[in-house]
Amino acid sequence: MRTENVEAKRELVLTETIGRNGNRFGDEEERLVLEVLRSGNLNKNCGTKVKEFEKQFAEYLGVKHAVMSTSGTAAIHIALGALNLDPGSEIITSPITDMGSIMPILLSLCVPVFADLDENTWEIDPDDVERKITPRTKAILAIHLIGNACSMDKLRKIANKHKIHLIEDCAQAFETTYNDTLVGKFGLLGCFSFNQCKHITCGDGGITVTDDDMLAERARLFSDKAWPREKGRTSLFVAPNYRVTELQAAVAIAQLKKVQDICEKRNRLGKMLSDGIKRLSGIKIQEAYPNSKHTYWFYAFRVNAKIRDEFVKTLAGEGVPCTGGYIPRPVYEYEVFHNGKMFGNSNFPYGHEPYRPFPEPISYDRGICPFAECLLDEMIRIPFNEFWTEDDIQKTIEAIKKVHQGVISGKR
Ligand SMILES: *Cc1c(COP(=O)(O)O)cnc(C)c1O
Repeated sequence: MRTENVEAKRELVLTETIGRNGNRFGDEEERLVLEVLRSGNLNKNCGTKVKEFEKQFAEYLGVKHAVMSTSGTAAIHIALGALNLDPGSEIITSPITDMGSIMPILLSLCVPVFADLDENTWEIDPDDVERKITPRTKAILAIHLIGNACSMDKLRKIANKHKIHLIEDCAQAFETTYNDTLVGKFGLLGCFSFNQCKHITCGDGGITVTDDDMLAERARLFSDKAWPREKGRTSLFVAPNYRVTELQAAVAIAQLKKVQDICEKRNRLGKMLSDGIKRLSGIKIQEAYPNSKHTYWFYAFRVNAKIRDEFVKTLAGEGVPCTGGYIPRPVYEYEVFHNGKMFGNSNFPYGHEPYRPFPEPISYDRGICPFAECLLDEMIRIPFNEFWTEDDIQKTIEAIKKVHQGVISGKR
């Protein structure tokens, strides 16, 4: 009788809110953090854990070098610092992303140029990238949004053809593959984030990877005030301090062991959800390229913008945690691009000779990436995670079908 009640109550809770959360940290994290504390040293230059993690991450991905830092933002800044681009260089990237992709471009005194997204994959559209190349373009920063791969073959071709660098932002894309190869290995440099909301985490942290020895050397210097420690006390160029502590690396070592299982599960559950709803008229899923693997940093689909908010409200009423959109607007509409005060009262590097002899000003106005703007108005996001069960996904599919019936089909 008692167990029956408990079961009944559990059912009730589940229908109130589908899905679940769990503690992402276990015995291994605890053991390694304690080991660091007991060693009496938390600093990476005197310790072993950061070095160990960098080695493990490079091996895991299959690259020669990895430089750990304090955040994904720092990892991208380090990649750009390694490339040492001239101020005013243009970097083409996606308009839907975390500002952690964009701030390093501005901090490098470079200029972000936004290309629109592909309507099926929601990833950067290579044709629009090519249209936006100017003589000032020096790099493409490909962002694998939500754990789905960009069209790396085409981006690489464009980069080679125009002799510009290709960099990857893999902050949302652990275990994501393209042509059966892990993302992060296609670009000259790849960057990952370990902040609390990413597939694996150490609270905050990041890593920059490359196969290039010279870039790796410069990346390492850029993360540590350009101080070549083996050569003595000097600084070789302008660079911040992005050193992480041994504590973060200890947690990251334990987390890396779980990354394949976590992403395998997210891939399976995400695909299951897509298969369950992709045939419903008026619902569009985020598609992956053939031979690529989507690891669903979150789950999202889109419906007509006119009914989106009603759909979200009704779906939430069915117990599915969900919200409309992701970021509120494409990042080019953010205030930082529109107040004319990039550094102090100056708008450097915009419009500054000789870096930008302005044939025409760069536009950050609404309308420059029409599909990205539309996507944010149409997107419905379900923040699922690896603790969800197939049963949770099945219930979510049923709820979406029910809401679809009422909100979309009922409207005809
Ligand atoms: C999270 C994220 C970043 C920044 O990572 P932080 O560790 O938060 O600095 C950069 N790019 C993308 C696409 C992200 O999702």
